[in-house]
Amino acid sequence: RLYITPINFFFFPFKPKIQTKKNQAKMAVNGETKTESNNEEQVSRHQEVGHKSLLQSDALYQYILETSVYPREPESMKELREITAKHPWNIMTTSADEGQFLNMLLKLVNAKNTMEIGVFTGYSLLATALALPDDGKILAMDINRENYDLGRPIIEKAGVAHKIEFKEGPAMPVLDEMIADGKYHGTYDFIFVDADKDNYINYHKRLIDLVKVGGLIGYDNTLWNGSVVAPPDAPMRKYVRYYRDFVLELNKALAADPRIEICMLPVGDGITLCRRIN
Ligand code: SAM
Ligand code: CA
Repeated sequence: RLYITPINFFFFPFKPKIQTKKNQAKMAVNGETKTESNNEEQVSRHQEVGHKSLLQSDALYQYILETSVYPREPESMKELREITAKHPWNIMTTSADEGQFLNMLLKLVNAKNTMEIGVFTGYSLLATALALPDDGKILAMDINRENYDLGRPIIEKAGVAHKIEFKEGPAMPVLDEMIADGKYHGTYDFIFVDADKDNYINYHKRLIDLVKVGGLIGYDNTLWNGSVVAPPDAPMRKYVRYYRDFVLELNKALAADPRIEICMLPVGDGITLCRRIN
């Protein structure tokens, strides 16, 4: 069993691939690039931090970032993004456009009580914390505290750290305790899941109980590097292949779950929003 941890990224790091005619088709299958492009620099940019999009045009994605995202990005989020970019596992961070999307979404649904599973250095956490009212709350969980400690001073400086309760360790036992306790049933307005993909289905079994009727769960990376449409024998990085089946299974299960309405968006690496309806 593999976990999405910095250690995985150490063993299976993303390496920018340069597109050649020979590997062009393979890379397109992996959802990494567009087949019509032969611009090597453009192709490798799909791998860069801050450039995480399944959009098939680098120019269009850059346009979104430069026109709509970066000019409106709060100073604290920019600072956190820049610090995270120097981290060896920076590919794990939420992209700036997805951060902007989450921030807007949380405001639209008037979220107050929220949860995040998978914090890393805290970019999506900060996007959330900035969107919540002053008495808003985020239960944030990650097996790694060191990465969160990198972002924490910036979150403090932004004046939103008081909204965050960080728990170090695997999320599942915490969810089980909350369910056993009984007083957390139907209490969450918004839950963002961005951690171990092989557990998303197990998280869903618990989160559907903890989220309010009318509340939202967002499952991140549901297009999994574009691999969800790759033929089974297509070349893929080892960890992409490993988690792919779990993501495929999750996507089917969410689509068939009558307790939720869903909307899968091609933002970042794909995010599926689930609104609990009963
Ligand atoms: N949302 C983060 C951001 O905006 O930068 C990115 C999260 S990163 C993709 C995935 C995180 O999940 C890692 O920091 C990893 O330590 C954490 N993780 C992996 N397995 C976990 C588990 N069982 N429980 C909680 N966190 C876990
Ligand atoms: Ca993610």
